[in-house]
Amino acid sequence: MARYTDPVCRLCRREKIKLFLKGDRCYSDKCAIEKRPFAPGQHGPNARRNKMSEYGIQLREKQKVKRMYGLLEKQFRLVYATATRTKGKTGENLLILLERRLDNVVFRMGFARSLAESRQLVKHSHILLNGKKCNIPSVLVRREDVIAIRDKSKEVSSIKEASESSERKGLTPGWLNVDRNKMNGRMVDLPTRDQIMIPIQEQLIVELYSR
Ligand code: SF4
Repeated sequence: MARYTDPVCRLCRREKIKLFLKGDRCYSDKCAIEKRPFAPGQHGPNARRNKMSEYGIQLREKQKVKRMYGLLEKQFRLVYATATRTKGKTGENLLILLERRLDNVVFRMGFARSLAESRQLVKHSHILLNGKKCNIPSVLVRREDVIAIRDKSKEVSSIKEASESSERKGLTPGWLNVDRNKMNGRMVDLPTRDQIMIPIQEQLIVELYSR
């Protein structure tokens, strides 16, 4: 399957916001967007500041979300199609569906330092979903589902470090309940829009795809 292989910091610089794709580095003074707060490429520092069209603004908003969750256009479109078929506001449904992906839930539980790392954990079968091995990052987690680190993987240093760091930072969202000693967690409720702390105007994405 196709995947993005260029340096991910370029994506933040292109979108002009922190997308937090590199774990702890994003919180340090090594963050690329803090050192070079302009678009990547030869013309980046001198890019003309023309007013962006309405289409351009909508497109950038979509690209931000897509890149934050590490999806390619085709995958993102599929999630969007599901959001349109779900009851409620399409934009909110879209973000909630993205949050419920297994790779994202593992990341939000603090068992990985970045979404990319969390996806790797899922793909390499370190994760159990309701007691069964699950290596599909796009699986949607449901209310009351239990996610656990496999016994054999509990000593993996990157998982332990990520979990300890997450506990210190206290970043676990209210819709998840994590037991750090047992290295597992439960989705106590579906996330709501106000619990998804990303600075996105999802309505712009709906407008883009409704053109
Ligand atoms: Fe983005 Fe993190 Fe790179 Fe900073 S360090 S530019 S937040 S991916």
